[in-house]
Amino acid sequence: MHEWLGEKDDAIAEAAAVSSEGLDQSEVAAFRTRLMEWYRVHARKLPWRGVADPYKTWVSEIMLQQTRVAAVIEHYLHFMERFPALVALALAPEEEVLAAWSGLGYYRRARMLHKAAQFITGERGGVFPSTAVELRTLPGIGEYTSAAIASIAFGESVAAVDGNVERVLLRLTGRPEQATAAGRAFVRMVAGQLVPGRTMGTVERQTGVTAKGGAAQGNGARHGRTVAVNAAGDHNQAMMELGATICLPRAPLCLECPVYALCRTRGEHETAPRSKLRSREVAYLLSLRKRSVVTQVLLAKRPADASLMPGMYELPPLPLDAADDAMTEREPVLRVRHAITNTSYYVRIYSPLGPGDKVLRRAVPIAKNDLYWVKTSTLGAVPLTGLAKKVLQRLDVMAVRPLRRVDLEAETQATEPVRKKRERDVPAPVIDHDEDHDLF
Ligand code: SF4
Repeated sequence: MHEWLGEKDDAIAEAAAVSSEGLDQSEVAAFRTRLMEWYRVHARKLPWRGVADPYKTWVSEIMLQQTRVAAVIEHYLHFMERFPALVALALAPEEEVLAAWSGLGYYRRARMLHKAAQFITGERGGVFPSTAVELRTLPGIGEYTSAAIASIAFGESVAAVDGNVERVLLRLTGRPEQATAAGRAFVRMVAGQLVPGRTMGTVERQTGVTAKGGAAQGNGARHGRTVAVNAAGDHNQAMMELGATICLPRAPLCLECPVYALCRTRGEHETAPRSKLRSREVAYLLSLRKRSVVTQVLLAKRPADASLMPGMYELPPLPLDAADDAMTEREPVLRVRHAITNTSYYVRIYSPLGPGDKVLRRAVPIAKNDLYWVKTSTLGAVPLTGLAKKVLQRLDVMAVRPLRRVDLEAETQATEPVRKKRERDVPAPVIDHDEDHDLF
């Protein structure tokens, strides 16, 4: 609990002063100070923080859109290993970019990222846009993302307001948590008040430790360390951190909140009703075959004009109604639940009972031209849907990538020949059309 929680009178006076018209100067100053003191101590160590590379900030911000930090970390590390610089991303085929994105969902983000990398290298001579206004001209970058990149990578004084930040500001100021145009305009106004001006550089920060390692005695023997400061970028990241770790949607941790004294609601707010999850049952075919010592798996390619995940590879879907007869007598080899946006999919995976069992294959309603035999050893380089990847890994058809701790600085400095070698090391997927039917 923070020391200021005991300052009851001060707290009430400060809270009362936060009017629905915004914050006054002293409140703004108090908010910034308390927020940054907390952030310096409690910020999570994330691989994209403290990295002075707009490309990396950009990739992390795109990955974080509507995706939890925990799900992003491993994908981010893998993506940076595969595409360590803007030019590597721009030169890669789209399928490789989608393969590296596989499992993160919202694949349009990866396509837009790829297009934007090609635009920057092709049309801007490789120069990354450095202002929020310029950044918004890139595919896939909207108001929030442009502000986040411009402030974090370039120090621009512009507020980045995502859902988390909006929630914090509505609760702080006592506004109802409802998405109205007036509410959004108000939030933008308060966020703009709070974000500090552009200050970038380094400062000496006191550590309170003498050169010999003992506690300072107040005799001028204190020693500091040099830390990088980016006032606007740090503030925006601290706001996001507060929304993600303290001012949680359902149960905010108000007693641990650094701006508790300034907050009008302190947990006594109305929470927007949770949108109802729909549920659907689906089934897929898992079919494997051997060619000499090579194992292959049958995959379907989603149509290029599909509204969801166009062009991605998945296990061939089995229509539940048409194939019910065939499947009621079989046990699925796997049952799994998979959530996509507000739908919960209850998934059953069926496999043929032996080489002669072609009942399931015949039930697949996909044209032969869209079915492919893929070597299981190359699945890591195939743009799989998140569900296909989950199923193939659970059934040990696809290797699970081991968790790695990548030294990002070393990655940044990797020489071009090293990168080229690494790119060649990635096995190219062997994708054959479904020419025959000898399934098992
Ligand atoms: S006191 Fe509670 S409701 Fe207010 S900003 Fe902090 S966590 Fe959110």
